[in-house]
Amino acid sequence: MKSVNLKNKIFLFDVNHTLINTATGHLYAMKSMEQELIDNGIEKHKANSIIKHVHYITSLMIAGFLITNEKDWDGVPGGKKAYKEILSKISLHQKLINDKWGFIKKWSREVFLKIAADSVGVEIDNRIIKSVVDAHWHAITKKAKTFISAKILFKELKKHNIPIYLLTSSDGRLLFENGVFSYDPIYSEEFKKRRMEELRKEGLYFNDIIVGDPHDKPSRDYFKKGISTINKVLGRYVGSEDLVVVGNSFEDDLVVPISELGFGMGILVDETIKGAHIEGKIIRIDDLREIISLL
Ligand SMILES: [Mg+2]
Repeated sequence: MKSVNLKNKIFLFDVNHTLINTATGHLYAMKSMEQELIDNGIEKHKANSIIKHVHYITSLMIAGFLITNEKDWDGVPGGKKAYKEILSKISLHQKLINDKWGFIKKWSREVFLKIAADSVGVEIDNRIIKSVVDAHWHAITKKAKTFISAKILFKELKKHNIPIYLLTSSDGRLLFENGVFSYDPIYSEEFKKRRMEELRKEGLYFNDIIVGDPHDKPSRDYFKKGISTINKVLGRYVGSEDLVVVGNSFEDDLVVPISELGFGMGILVDETIKGAHIEGKIIRIDDLREIISLL
């Protein structure tokens, strides 16, 4: 570890579960959405049913993301069949987006909300969808907890004047117009950037934020956008070997930058391991503060 010196590098940080924990805001976000529906004139019991359904859809989506062993579906209400049904509804709602962009924003809360409202038989328009989903994300932002280790590390990075870029996925903000969903990457990106700016209040600093709009992690295009953003902001060409990427997911944060784009170093934050060790271009640490000794 001693032979590694990262003082003159540029750091790119994944946000969720690397710098902050957003999981605690989930229930609060559901409550905020329910209140926003009520404020928009939806009857209380209907608003409650809609949000219960949004919660159910979200749980199924998380199960779909996490489950690797088919047997584990037995413990999920509705099981894999319900998950597949939700996926096909999501695809149907985003058919035009898929035709235009070649992908869909699977985690779009706008679409979850629309599916839930349909299931309760309540019509909602773009204005309601937008304000309710805004309420969801504002609640998540408000309740996000910045890790102490991140605050301490950023203080040290600042002392060394190290440039920092945040790497964060898209919120998948979609617009609902004339009965169909559409996607404007600038609209979606700007919303997420504004949300991330709140982190400055927590003592984090950064030169810019790279959001997964239009292309998201772990695509090559996403990380290439990161490189071109850095070159633009710093006003010079930066060699990819000077880039250090830090994240909690090997697949989403590190594989492409390290093995395809020649980044200098990848740091995996994994609480389950003890201490720090290095293997080739990957350093595994159990706490962000271990980076301080490498500066
Ligand atoms: Mg993460």
